[in-house]
Amino acid sequence: MNSQRCYEKKHPDHKTIVKVGECHFGSPHIEVISGPCSVESFEQLYEVALTLKKLGCHCIRGGAFKPRTSPYSFQGLGETALQILDTIREQMGLAVITEIMSQEQIQQAEAFVDCYQVGSRNMQNFELLKSLGKQDKPVLLKRGLSATLEEFLMAAEYILSEGNEQVILCERGIRSFDPATRNVLDLAAVAKLKELTHLPIIVDPSHATGQRSLVPPTALAAVAVGADGLMIETHPNPDHSISDAEQAISLETLESLLPKIDAVAQAIGREEIIKEEAVLIGV
Ligand code: PEP
Ligand code: MN
Repeated sequence: MNSQRCYEKKHPDHKTIVKVGECHFGSPHIEVISGPCSVESFEQLYEVALTLKKLGCHCIRGGAFKPRTSPYSFQGLGETALQILDTIREQMGLAVITEIMSQEQIQQAEAFVDCYQVGSRNMQNFELLKSLGKQDKPVLLKRGLSATLEEFLMAAEYILSEGNEQVILCERGIRSFDPATRNVLDLAAVAKLKELTHLPIIVDPSHATGQRSLVPPTALAAVAVGADGLMIETHPNPDHSISDAEQAISLETLESLLPKIDAVAQAIGREEIIKEEAVLIGV
């Protein structure tokens, strides 16, 4: 039995950098992943992608298979969404991240994505985690709805111990008694995880708060507390989002937030996001 866990730091400065396309999670850069809750159409994703390129973000998100509380809610466009993500990836040169909920979906998504997302509801789907441990793509692992940090890290351990070292942790808020916000963003967990593991940690202020107005302030707080990146839900027309409309921010809001993220990053001694001109490939 291995007594040293894979997620543990071997020395105080031990850090893992996980590369997803041009993003380096765990490096001094604050990496911003953004995109809609669900892929709804090519036009929708293309508009988001154009903005991300303009702003110098390298990674787009978008759900193809949606884990919805009700089986009657929109479940995602599935295979069609994967095709759209793949086209955006090819045409725009953005890395693609999407959630998979089963071993079957890993195979379905494999050719189309750069990083698999494990959602909160599947954080302890151990068979899924073990399968992801055998893949050679990075995995973004979201904290379970009411998972302790020990449970969160042991979920990561399932992936790491199978040989896949490319794990990014994501704090996305935990359940509480108070319905005032969708979840409670556990910022102390980010700082604590930095002590406990060498893995990169990002924060999702969208699912953590569930409210568009709270996304920018909590995103900034996450960077201040040491997050290596952010995952933010955006939509060209937020009120018309098919899923999670209340928490989606506009592309304009994202644009105005990024310089503030840079400012906080600089204030705590991290490099700012490098801006680059829009580069359109093959369109
Ligand atoms: C998501 O990021 O699309 C999502 C469903 O988030 P979570 O698993 O954190 O609820
Ligand atoms: Mn969502």
